Amino acid sequence: MEHLHDDVIRKVTDSDVRFIRLWFCDIAGTLKSIAISPSDLEAAFAEGIGIDGSTIEGLTRSYESDMILRPDPATFELLAWRGEINATGRMMCDVLTPDGEPAASDPRRVLREALSRAEEKGLEFFAHPEIEFYLFDEPYRRGEQLRPIDGAGYFDHVHRGQGQDFRRTAIQHLEAMNIQVEFSHHENGPGQNEIDLRYADALTTADNIVTLRTVVKEVALSMGQVATFMPKPMIEHPGSGMHTHLSMFQGGKNAFHEPGAEYGLSRLGRQFIAGLLRHAPEYSAVTNQWVNSYKRLWGAQEAPSYVCWGHNNRSALVRVPFHKPTKGTSSRVEFRGLDSSANPYLALAVLLAAGMAGIEGEYELPEGAEDAVWDLSERERRAMGIEPLPTDLFRALESFEGSELMASTLGEQVFEFFLRDKQQEWQRYREQVTDYELASTFSRV
Ligand code: GLU
Ligand code: MG
Ligand code: MG
Repeated sequence: MEHLHDDVIRKVTDSDVRFIRLWFCDIAGTLKSIAISPSDLEAAFAEGIGIDGSTIEGLTRSYESDMILRPDPATFELLAWRGEINATGRMMCDVLTPDGEPAASDPRRVLREALSRAEEKGLEFFAHPEIEFYLFDEPYRRGEQLRPIDGAGYFDHVHRGQGQDFRRTAIQHLEAMNIQVEFSHHENGPGQNEIDLRYADALTTADNIVTLRTVVKEVALSMGQVATFMPKPMIEHPGSGMHTHLSMFQGGKNAFHEPGAEYGLSRLGRQFIAGLLRHAPEYSAVTNQWVNSYKRLWGAQEAPSYVCWGHNNRSALVRVPFHKPTKGTSSRVEFRGLDSSANPYLALAVLLAAGMAGIEGEYELPEGAEDAVWDLSERERRAMGIEPLPTDLFRALESFEGSELMASTLGEQVFEFFLRDKQQEWQRYREQVTDYELASTFSRV
């Protein structure tokens, strides 16, 4: 650790760094940031930086508002969009209590603990996300139509397109911050884009997702646009998902891979998927945390609505991509349920916990589904044992509330706060009188 501290201090002195931002997230996954100056860096490493956590959603109970940020030196990078003169660095932080214990409410702590439970079994967890988002000309204003920056579609090359320039700049910034991009393209919806990151250990991936969201928003603003990761901003266009590829390694080898097995998938991989399927209703509130998330899941347009798995089935919740037999060791599981607005630390923690439950309980993987499950009738789906995902946040919270797996994975404090906070969100939503109701009912009755 010491030498990592020294490395950061050296980098800060060698480059013209004026501020160092300390980053952490609240329970919703919103980025929080505090700037310190280079002269405070040594103290920050030695003792951490004290903050008042009382104003941060879910971070503290009222009687313990003092918290300490401990910067993680391995995450030091310069904020690329800030330039090199009077530069700004950033580090992701762990949040500690005044006694120096990991704070129960820190989402990074939740993921670290889930990872260490897997590590006890010799398993390391890796992930890479495909992150979708929309670019608009203007921010949302009540009563006004949203205006996407272009009218293009899937993989379209837009001549002189703003989307291209946008992706070029965003990717350069990400790479300058040591975040490797696999590829990027225009998505299906007008103004919708996707950036896929290379795989990394789950904690790094979660840090990278938080950073990507910030980079995307900053670049959009610098180009006079507005980016949103909202799951379903427009009824008539696809939502923004965050398909995430998951794999586990044991003794340096891909533990999901077995040569010659169906789709190259090992027994462990099958049990992991079985865990993802069985616990899907319980963790949906975390992987799809907003009222709006369920508008994406139930709005068709390639978002999954049913709990099943398949190989080439884009309507399934879990897909096993296996198109490169020569690269068989890349066996992995694509989880298609997540949306781009999830808290990535909590989401990866609950997915890992569900998969581990499948491994530890040696769950049997049900038959795969290769038909588009949307096209089957309710009866056919029932006959195949295919259950729906929760249809709204209320139902997702009902399953979440009764889940021991969620309570033990998130810890009592996050579990209770999350439940209360989301129940309030549902309550506020339920009280709304919407445009739809006025348009369909006002003149009719
Ligand atoms: N936008 C789709 C979703 O909401 C995914 C489209 C795709 O990349 O297959 O999940
Ligand atoms: Mg996509
Ligand atoms: Mg995908």
